[in-house]
Formats: sequence, structure tokens, C-alpha cells
Amino acid sequence: MIERCVGCGAEFEKIDGPIHRYMTSSAGCWERYGELLGVMAIAPELKIARQLSTDAYAAQHPGTPTPQATQSVAVHLLNLYGYLVRGRPVGVPQFAGHKGAFPRLEPPSFEQTRTVADMPITGSHEEIAVAARAWAESVWAAWSERHGLIAEWHAKYSAK
Ligand SMILES: [Zn+2]
Repeated sequence: MIERCVGCGAEFEKIDGPIHRYMTSSAGCWERYGELLGVMAIAPELKIARQLSTDAYAAQHPGTPTPQATQSVAVHLLNLYGYLVRGRPVGVPQFAGHKGAFPRLEPPSFEQTRTVADMPITGSHEEIAVAARAWAESVWAAWSERHGLIAEWHAKYSAK
């Protein structure tokens, strides 16, 4: 039986399993993401792919409107903006210290968007790295109605 993820819309075999506390997903989606992180964790050359995947996954699983989920989505979108639009080096998140500053953003449809299901977890590291960037760019594009707002937030908070 196939279950569609409530966050990203990816379809996985329905399983019983844990999910994240506030990045609401199907158990199958969360399991696949865990497998992906496992592959990337032991490959130092996939550090950038890992950060992009983390931001993409979080921005695609906005969960319920709790304060924590709301801040998480905002911070990960700010990361994507910084990395993909402003060309900041992919690395340590820049906005971790601004908890509570951001209002809830209603998520877009991820209908045409890449998901963790498109990540070639058994592929070469190069394939994984290319796919992670494509996934991040796809998720960022899905949030296009908020690009202006994210840019404003970035300008407002990055100097502090
Ligand atoms: Zn999902």
C-alpha cells in the first residue's frame, strides 16, 4: 500500500515508524530521509549536499503551525536564499539565533517539486551532490511567492 507524504507529496510504501517532532511527514518519507542522511554522514565530501538536503527537506515539511515549526521553515528558507540566490558558501546556518522573529508562511504546493524520493541514495557521491542541489533549487522555486519576503528578512537580519 502506498502512502502520500502530507509534507512533500512523495509516495512511499506505507510503513509504521517514527516521524519528526514537527516536520510532519509520512513515516516512509522520514525513513528515506534518515537513510539519505546516513549515507551523507559518512562522506565528508557530501557536506554541502547534506546541508542543502537538510534545508530542502525542512522547507518541504512545514508541519503544523507551532512556533518551532514556523521558525524552522523560515530559517531553512533563509539558508536556501543565502546559498542559492546570494551565493553564500553552503555551511553553518546564519540565522539560528533569531528564534521567534518570523511569522508563519503558508506553504505552497509541492506538486511539481523534487522530493527526497528523487535522491539517488545508492548512487555515486557525485550523483548525490548534483541531485541535492537540484532538489534544493526545486524546493526554493516552489516557494516563489515568498522570495521577496525572504529577501527582506535576509537583508534585515543578516547584518545583526
Ligand atoms: Zn515528505
